[in-house]
Amino acid sequence: MAKELPPYTVMVRDLPVHKTFEVPATQVSDWLKGLPMRDALGAPDPDPEAGHGKADLDLYADGTHAFASGTFKGYLTVACSRCVGPVRLELDEKLRVTFMPPGEMPSEDAEPTAAEDGAEVLAEDLDVFAFDGEKIDLEPLFREQFVLAVPYAPLCKESCKGLCPQCGIDRNTGTCTCEKPIDPRLAALKGLKLPS
Ligand SMILES: [Zn+2]
Ligand SMILES: [Zn+2]
Repeated sequence: MAKELPPYTVMVRDLPVHKTFEVPATQVSDWLKGLPMRDALGAPDPDPEAGHGKADLDLYADGTHAFASGTFKGYLTVACSRCVGPVRLELDEKLRVTFMPPGEMPSEDAEPTAAEDGAEVLAEDLDVFAFDGEKIDLEPLFREQFVLAVPYAPLCKESCKGLCPQCGIDRNTGTCTCEKPIDPRLAALKGLKLPS
């Protein structure tokens, strides 16, 4: 019996092929583990609400390279950077990816190379992944869709009021009577009697 391939792997000998792939919540949960804006949610692990992805791809090869072209749709859930409530981020990306032998991969810090027509090609502009010529592993590509979608400071809404730093109440849904904290250095000065 043929050994079962890992998920998101396609044999080059099976190309060209049109394929769809599902990324379940357990997988999204796992990929986003350790990201502060995920961990801040305090969600169960695995989190059934972590997200979901669906790739719809045309995969083909030209002998030395393989290509994936299509769409990636789905969503993921992260924490709001102010109130820590869940923020749902939608994914709707067009994918155009080239798989090339490791030796041909542009290096990260390479100088931009001037192409024939004078256009500059930067390594980070190319969506390229290494492959061994036998099978394509789409996992790094799918993982990237989720990881790169997480903004530095996600917000549930632009006007999110955040949490009270003293009692922790969500100011979007409640109010508290906490006084604005006085800088302890100023408080000390207040009680100070200045010599006249
Ligand atoms: Zn918020
Ligand atoms: Zn408060």
